[in-house]
Amino acid sequence: MDIFRDTATLRAALAGRRRAGDRIALVPTMGNLHDGHHSLIALARRHADFVVASVFVNPTQFGPNEDFARYPRTPDADARGLAQHGCDAMFLPAVDDLYPFGAEAAVRIHVPGLSDILDGASRPGHFDGVATVVTRLFNRVQPDVAVFGRKDYQQLLVIERLVEDLALPIRIVGAPIVREASGLAMSSRNQYLDAAERERAALIHATLGWMRDQALDGTEPVRIEAAARQRLADAGFVPDYAVIRRAADLGPLEAGAPAAEGMALIAARLGSTRLIDNLRFG
Ligand code: AMP
Repeated sequence: MDIFRDTATLRAALAGRRRAGDRIALVPTMGNLHDGHHSLIALARRHADFVVASVFVNPTQFGPNEDFARYPRTPDADARGLAQHGCDAMFLPAVDDLYPFGAEAAVRIHVPGLSDILDGASRPGHFDGVATVVTRLFNRVQPDVAVFGRKDYQQLLVIERLVEDLALPIRIVGAPIVREASGLAMSSRNQYLDAAERERAALIHATLGWMRDQALDGTEPVRIEAAARQRLADAGFVPDYAVIRRAADLGPLEAGAPAAEGMALIAARLGSTRLIDNLRFG
């Protein structure tokens, strides 16, 4: 596997692949890769001849009091994992390569509406940072396909909207959530958890399953949401949200709509760690 540390060398290599007729896939990540990320590489491989994974801890998607500085950075292990999982190229740019005028002066992309609810409400500016960096990666790699995990479901919808609205010729593929045996969704942030917290964190997935069962039984979403928040709070979590929404656009699941069109989403803090997860009903 080749490692590219700047846009110019990456572009030169990709131009050769494109001339050879290869379909190119991009898997954007922030590194510290685990089996969730590796599953995205495998899925990308099914859609393309040449798979590029980017590893970049993007400063513009972190709020001022978030974990940008302490976010785990493990590029050597990431490179080994990517190579083992059949990735063709790793793109490991520096901040000034992706943001030539600096992160503060960067042209920003804002996807209205979807960026302002749920995680966007809890983390103002987060999705602008995501849309901004993903657009930059798309422009550099010009992939035919890009793969994003459903673990970050709202992010996936933001990117789908971005691509549709700007008519970018890129197919967006959503990948299933990869979980630990306990049900805990794999995440680079799980390593902030101590052993007891990690065990307790499985309650998020259990609560999502409970919300789905209640919804399929016909219980009103507002009642389910209140009980889910309580359940999390009782176990020592500080929930940001525990909601039932329409899977298509994260709008409210109207009374009378089939529960199968819905999904449950949770964001909750456990100690200093913010965890997110979701479960589609259909
Ligand atoms: P991150 O490095 O956390 O920015 O994630 C990079 C990509 O991997 C995103 O598209 C995530 O949704 C995806 N991802 C992270 N964790 C998982 C997981 N447990 N299962 C599936 N996809 C994941």
